[in-house]
Amino acid sequence: MEEKRHPVCGINYPGTFQEFDNWFSTEDACLAYIVKLRWPQGFVCPACGTIAEIPSMMKRGLFLCRECKRQTSITSGTLFHKTHKPLRTWFLAIWFVTSQKHGASALGLKRVLGLGSYNTAWNWLHKLRRAMVRPGRDRLIGSVEVDETYIGGAGTEIRGRGAESKTIVAIAAEIRGRGPGRIRLSIVPDVSSKSLHRFILDNIEPGSKVQTDGWSGYSGLESKGFKHVVCNITASGDPAHVHMPRVHLVASLLDRWWLGIHQGAIRPIQLDYYLDEFTFRFNRRKSKARGLLFYRLMQQAVNCDPVPRKMIVGG
Ligand SMILES: [Zn+2]
Repeated sequence: MEEKRHPVCGINYPGTFQEFDNWFSTEDACLAYIVKLRWPQGFVCPACGTIAEIPSMMKRGLFLCRECKRQTSITSGTLFHKTHKPLRTWFLAIWFVTSQKHGASALGLKRVLGLGSYNTAWNWLHKLRRAMVRPGRDRLIGSVEVDETYIGGAGTEIRGRGAESKTIVAIAAEIRGRGPGRIRLSIVPDVSSKSLHRFILDNIEPGSKVQTDGWSGYSGLESKGFKHVVCNITASGDPAHVHMPRVHLVASLLDRWWLGIHQGAIRPIQLDYYLDEFTFRFNRRKSKARGLLFYRLMQQAVNCDPVPRKMIVGG
């Protein structure tokens, strides 16, 4: 087989676990990969801006700027900063998370990595989920369907009735041909126009065409700069999934995923992070190569500040 990819000489991701295992067999190999992802054009000193194609490494993990003599930690400003575990274990976690078709559970991660405790595994999963959402990511554009779904019980509930014990998740899905394009999911406190408009403004580019049902919480979108198309489901007599097939597809996949891998055992306070994982996977569902998902998550992990545990727990 043609040898075309290698972390140290620049390109890009392992295709199989065997390749992964070969590439990242040492801490230095993992560090080299992080360096390439962070500074593809050569190390840039954050103090003076000097670029070094081949920077001088001090002790492991520190670059020395030849100009200003400042030392820079390779992992500072990344998810891996100040970790007490080997980088290889983190890389394995990322491989594991991205190679599970329906997402990883903390128990699964604990087993695969031999982590000491369930809490550690849980903490790691949540750190990785943070990396799944790029800060300042683009908003959805074009024509977008928007609806809400209720999580935390059996089946779909009718809006406003018996839904008090459930968590409301707003869904936006781009219309791309017959299927959905990219999606965004977010917990909303209620289905008031204040909450729903907030969700739409945060996740959809003004000027886009927003398609919703006739719920009053969606009225007034025109004044926020959107084109608003209302599908009057009750008047037409057709079931909702006929008019809004994309958000309903997403809602049913979300339901299945929730009840499957996680057995519905997610506290609402953690749900945001799980939604991020779902979105990360969904928006990259056409990436056939599992290695590519690994690569994307690695890219985002090196551009992601570490998250203190108290922030994760507190939401
Ligand atoms: Zn410098």
